[in-house]
Amino acid sequence: MPRPIQATIHLGALRHNLARARHAAPDAQIWAVVKANAYGHGIERVFDSLRAADGFALLDLDEASRIRALGWRGPIWLLEGVFETRDLELCSRLGLWHTVHCDEQIDMLALHKTHEPHRVFLKMNSGMNRLGFAPGRYRAAWTRLNALPQVDEISMLTHFSDADGPLGIAAQVARFEEATRDLPGERSLSNSAATLRFGSDAAAKADWVRPGIALYGSSPDFPAQSAQDWGLQPAMSLSARIIAVQHLQPGDSVGYGSQFVAEQAMRMGVVACGYADGYPRSCPTGTPVLVDGVRSRTLGRVSMDMLVVDLSGLPQAGLGSTATLWGQAANGATLSIDEVAQAAGTVGYELMCALASRVPVVVV
Ligand SMILES: *Cc1c(COP(=O)(O)O)cnc(C)c1O
Repeated sequence: MPRPIQATIHLGALRHNLARARHAAPDAQIWAVVKANAYGHGIERVFDSLRAADGFALLDLDEASRIRALGWRGPIWLLEGVFETRDLELCSRLGLWHTVHCDEQIDMLALHKTHEPHRVFLKMNSGMNRLGFAPGRYRAAWTRLNALPQVDEISMLTHFSDADGPLGIAAQVARFEEATRDLPGERSLSNSAATLRFGSDAAAKADWVRPGIALYGSSPDFPAQSAQDWGLQPAMSLSARIIAVQHLQPGDSVGYGSQFVAEQAMRMGVVACGYADGYPRSCPTGTPVLVDGVRSRTLGRVSMDMLVVDLSGLPQAGLGSTATLWGQAANGATLSIDEVAQAAGTVGYELMCALASRVPVVVV
């Protein structure tokens, strides 16, 4: 028997979350962001449930090829554009839309030989300060691109630094609007947080939104709003069996470093999931977990292949019980990945992307 651990990908949840994004931006077209192998879910696994999107956005040429291999003929967008000249050949061959965020990418395009001119997204740096042309240099870049025979339509994008936080998007939207005011072409501004949070901002919703994390059922602005508050369903569950039960006496400790010491007699279960499966080692005692669908907590340090859960008050639970580390339990109870991420001092994004390849995945 393989190790009793399993990740489950819930196709119904993906469909539901995509519909939820559509509802939040009814007039926009939707790029389903599937970078990082669909945030750890697996591009091939999620593709069919997300094909109601208007396009797929990602970073790697390899991922773009995989989407084409699945039969997708619609738009595919390389969010960071190309990394070297020969990448443009694959863009031509696969009909990829690609971001242009720097002069060097325009230089590469100018030297590229293609029968079909490319659809490009010209990126503005409106405050994030990672990729893109500063507002004052944007128009010159647009003009240069527009003069290239290699370029078909030019769309425009920017990316928000604080769509999930108190700063919000207003200043960046204003900068973007001002610098692009009379330029023709489609616009794309909003990630999940902006799509869900700023329903009233029409500028931020035009013409394409780019939800990623929301599709996978994690809240972009947890803990301000939970996935449940946003009406999102977890697309990934991670569960494992209890493979041993221990009875602790007062003063007994658990695991490496004796980080948890029992104050009274108690029962605990050893779960076949550890940091080598993608469960964060940084989760301290008290991290929430579901045992047979009932909320409990972890005890002590997470080790490579195991972690320990509190069975106090769970007399029915024991050897063979299922621990849901995040996602949905068999009884319908859910534990948001965001809660576990918070305990680890990170975000749901990182946990889902870090699901280890040794964990068997089933799709339901
Ligand atoms: C990853 C990414 C997104 C999606 O962000 P979420 O927060 O997951 O919704 C949108 N746009 C760009 C440019 C990205 O890189």
